[in-house]
Amino acid sequence: ESFASMTDFHPVIGNAVKLIGYQKPTPVQKWAIPTTLAKRDLMACAQTGSGKTAAFLVPILNLMYTEGPGHSQAAVRANRRKQFPVALVLAPTRELASQIYDEARKFSYRISGADIGSQVRELDRGCHLLVATPGRLMLWRGRIGLDHCRFLVLDEADRMLDMGFEPQIRRIVEQDTMPQKGQRQTLMFSATFPKEIQHLARDFLQNRAPDAL
Ligand code: AMP
Repeated sequence: ESFASMTDFHPVIGNAVKLIGYQKPTPVQKWAIPTTLAKRDLMACAQTGSGKTAAFLVPILNLMYTEGPGHSQAAVRANRRKQFPVALVLAPTRELASQIYDEARKFSYRISGADIGSQVRELDRGCHLLVATPGRLMLWRGRIGLDHCRFLVLDEADRMLDMGFEPQIRRIVEQDTMPQKGQRQTLMFSATFPKEIQHLARDFLQNRAPDAL
């Protein structure tokens, strides 16, 4: 099965996938992309190199394009000094965060070079997708409003816990302004599944898709 035939992608995402040259989905993409498009929460087993980044970016960006950012620009302008990401990706290191951001830019880059519609400009303007380490996000928290965050991704969750980020992650996800589980979609990616990861999944996921395999 080809990548493009997995679903009826928004043209912007479909074209970006074609230009980037992804022909076939990797196993984690085969499962995570339709599951995310179906609005389920999930926890996926994924190592570096598995294609996990596109496994969450493609369906999230696709949903952002088809459904819009979900809040009015007027609401954002009213609070000019704050950023209101629609999608928040937490990653263990700044290196990984910048790799994820680069992968997202591949889609946004093609997008801005293509036929630009208003939704597209909205996505590129401001900060609809924020990729951060938990430590950095805690530093910036006065400037970031999570009220409009409809997608939350924990990438390399086991590594984040190994690095001692659990308290920061819990503070970010369980703060009052972050939409409750069920109001947001939460995706967790991890190479291993120790007890602590299972506990995070129990606390953060709702309407969780049955595990693959
Ligand atoms: P990741 O596991 O997300 O770090 O991805 C590893 C590498 O695989 C990255 O360079 C991606 O651009 C590439 N990649 C991701 N998905 C696919 C795919 N379906 N086909 C070919 N390459 C891919």
